[in-house]
Amino acid sequence: MYRGRFAPSPTGPLHLGSLVAAVASWLDARAHGGEWLVRMEDVDEPRCKQIWADSILQTLERFGLEWDGAVIVQSERKDAYQAALQRLKDGRMAYGCACSRKEAGEGRYPGTCRQGCAQVRAWRFLVEDEAVSFEDRWRGRFSQDVGAEVGDFVVLRADGYFAYQLAVVVDDGEQGVTDVVRGADLLDSTPRQILLQRALGLPTPRYLHHPLVMGEDGDKLSKQTQARAVDEMQADVALAAALGFLELDSRTLEAAVEEWRNRWVKGR
Ligand code: GLU
Repeated sequence: MYRGRFAPSPTGPLHLGSLVAAVASWLDARAHGGEWLVRMEDVDEPRCKQIWADSILQTLERFGLEWDGAVIVQSERKDAYQAALQRLKDGRMAYGCACSRKEAGEGRYPGTCRQGCAQVRAWRFLVEDEAVSFEDRWRGRFSQDVGAEVGDFVVLRADGYFAYQLAVVVDDGEQGVTDVVRGADLLDSTPRQILLQRALGLPTPRYLHHPLVMGEDGDKLSKQTQARAVDEMQADVALAAALGFLELDSRTLEAAVEEWRNRWVKGR
C-alpha cells in the first residue's frame, strides 16, 4: 500500500516553495490511490511556532489538499527518537562528541571524537567509508560518499534537540512511508537518511526530489528568507503557479492527478 507524506517545518506560513512540495506529494499519493499523511516537523523547537503549524494546515485545507489520519507532531515524539539513539549507541554506531561548532568545522567532520572525549555535548552517527546510491524517480541515480563528503553527522544536538536526519528516518519508518516526494534541497540529505535506515533496520522508501522554486536572487525560497505566504495570493493563481512549476499543464488538482499518473506512475 502506497503511503506518502508532506512534512513541513512550522517556521512560517506556507509559501510557494512548500506549496509545490505539498502538491507534488499529494498528487503522487492520489495518483497511486494511496494515503497522504501530514507531519509537523517541529523537531527544531526554538525555530517553530504553533501559529505556523495551524496556519499551514488551514492553507492545505483551503487548497483542497486533504490528508489521511491524524497529524503527527515531532516535538511529541522524543521517546521514539531517544529509543532510536539508544539502539545506535548499543550497536556502537553512535558516539559522544565534545566539539564546539567551531572545532567541528563547516565541511566534513574529521572524526575528532571517534576515540572518545571528556565532555559529551552532542551525539554523532558513525559513518563507514562507503558510497550510497539510490534511484531518484525525477533525477535518476544519485550517489554520495557520505564518509568523504559529510563525515560522522549529528543525531542529537548539543542544545538537546534531536537532529532532523534522525527524526525524519524514525518517523518515516514508524509511519510506514513507502514514498518520499520533496524538494531537491533534501537530495543530499537522502544518503545520510539511507544510512540511518540501514542502521535502524528500517526499509528505504522510494524517493522523488522535485526542482526547487527559486527566489529572484537565485536562492531557494524559504520561510527564513521571508518568501511571500501563498495566503496572500489568490488560491487559483498560487495553484496554477505550483502546477506549472511541476511541469504540468493542468490547472486543477483533479486534472493534475491524471496528468501526474500518466507521467510518473503508468509504465514505470
Ligand atoms: N521538514 C523539512 C522541510 O520543511 C522537510 C523534510 C522532508 O520532507 O523530509 O524542509
